[in-house]
Amino acid sequence: MKTSLSKESVYGITKISFDFKKPHCFLNRYYESVEVVKNFAERGYSHFVITFSGGKDSTATLIIAIEAALLVRDKIERIDVFYADTGLEIPVIHKFALEFLEFLRNFQRIKNLPVEVKIVHPEPEESFWACLIGKGYPPPHQRFRWCTKRLKIAPVERELKMLINPSKTLVITGVRFNESQNRNNRLINSCSRGGECGQGVWFQNSSRLNVGYLAPIVDWSDCEVWDFLNIYAPCLGYPSEKLEPEVYNGRGTRFGCWMCTVVRQDKALQKISSLPLWSHLRPLLLFRERVREISYNPGSREIRKDGKLGRLKVNIRRELLKELLELQKRVGLDLITEVEIKIIKKFWDVNKKRE
Ligand code: SF4
Repeated sequence: MKTSLSKESVYGITKISFDFKKPHCFLNRYYESVEVVKNFAERGYSHFVITFSGGKDSTATLIIAIEAALLVRDKIERIDVFYADTGLEIPVIHKFALEFLEFLRNFQRIKNLPVEVKIVHPEPEESFWACLIGKGYPPPHQRFRWCTKRLKIAPVERELKMLINPSKTLVITGVRFNESQNRNNRLINSCSRGGECGQGVWFQNSSRLNVGYLAPIVDWSDCEVWDFLNIYAPCLGYPSEKLEPEVYNGRGTRFGCWMCTVVRQDKALQKISSLPLWSHLRPLLLFRERVREISYNPGSREIRKDGKLGRLKVNIRRELLKELLELQKRVGLDLITEVEIKIIKKFWDVNKKRE
């Protein structure tokens, strides 16, 4: 996108003027979105809850919410930024997310805003490995997507329940409709088309918590999000220009867990591990593929009373744990915790007693 711009330094940040007459200038989108968030604050939603995952959509949304809050500071009582650490984040994305949150904690321009950063985790019994290797759930797929709520939604909701005030709390997420025609599918599956897993599920569940819900970039295109993060947000002082070259290694990839079997291919990890700095992550791709293959093999599944395929057989789960521990050593990353391993073994014992 071409924009005409001139720069001047204002209050220590760089101000850029763009050609607003251009109909698709992302700055028009930005100002519209800020205006919408501001309106909600003016209507009494004084508690913002922002679901951040370190991806481009939630990073843009977080910046928009904060910039809107700066404009109506006196209306804002509290801003909670939630990061659900699933334990399966792609390491480079995880690193960016934590660094961005640390940056926010120290960002002078927003020091007068009541921003609280909260990093939450799934219950160990509900973690991905506990469910897959411990309970023997088949790897998640479109028709049995057991992971998103357990890994991304429930940990935030648990904390949120203690904080919400129905007439004041506004959950702000980065879901986008994207280009697809089917609105419901767009929301549920937005993560498989360049969006971020979890953001659409928040939208679906919004009525459950009985709070306000807002998706300020719902109609933004991929390009508008990238242009905003690469060009304008850095002028406001946010280190978002790193995302495209250093974290996503380009555009057009979805964003989710490295073990995600809901998508056929993990293009994000493929792209990232093609960078020399992250090439040691390639074995993760092979492990993910191996787990996908296992799930398609009926011989690796128990047979339920109704004759349908059930959980993964215990011997398969044992094998997977062994391979995961080997993988962990090979890539030099903590992929599973000791607590999870204990829980997995407990689930195996329960399974044995049932047999
Ligand atoms: S990215 Fe995939 S594995 Fe992770 S929570 Fe979303 S659907 Fe599940």
